[in-house]
Amino acid sequence: MLLEQERILVAEYGRRLVRSGLTTGTGGNLSVRDPATGYIAVSPSGMDYGDIGPADVTVLDESGAVVDGGRRPTTEWAMHLAFYAARPDRHAAVHTHSPAATALACLRRELPAMSYLIALSGRDAVPCAPYRDFGTPALAEAAVKAADGCDGVLLANHGLICLGADMAAAFQLAEQLEFCADVYMRCLAAGQEPVLLTAQEMDRARAQFGVYGQRGAALT
Ligand SMILES: [Zn+2]
Repeated sequence: MLLEQERILVAEYGRRLVRSGLTTGTGGNLSVRDPATGYIAVSPSGMDYGDIGPADVTVLDESGAVVDGGRRPTTEWAMHLAFYAARPDRHAAVHTHSPAATALACLRRELPAMSYLIALSGRDAVPCAPYRDFGTPALAEAAVKAADGCDGVLLANHGLICLGADMAAAFQLAEQLEFCADVYMRCLAAGQEPVLLTAQEMDRARAQFGVYGQRGAALT
């Protein structure tokens, strides 16, 4: 099977997406790029994650043409491809409809440096891309532009997308940013803005995680 390992990862992490509460139903999607061929294994459109096996994962080339697999790729395949084109050092993407990140995206606010965990994104704040219709090249373009090199970006009135050097890193970032968004929303619900970490504190957190282009250290 072409890209068997990558397809297994997409199927496995799809189930983790649901188990972790990062999405519900068939929402969200995920992909892994094979650096050797440039081909991308993406989750299929409209299938329950529990039903997706490796053979249901679609393989696309860099132009979005189907190379292997009988399923229609996720409606957001163009967004995944746009991020890979912009970030040659990133080989996995996880798009979630997780509640706290989506709530913050509905407020069209960035996720600021309210925790050192934000440093896992590579930046001091996770930006929010403007609203564009789902499944369109316009959304792909707006998300990549807003991310501007950050490994996470909120999508206005929609959700979150995270990149990683590999699937474990992309998934970990999605989990941690959802946690941060939840804490941030609780601060806002308390009627206050949290005290933010300084640029120097965030620099130190990035150094501790070793996130310049690499996966982070173990979380504590
Ligand atoms: Zn979505």
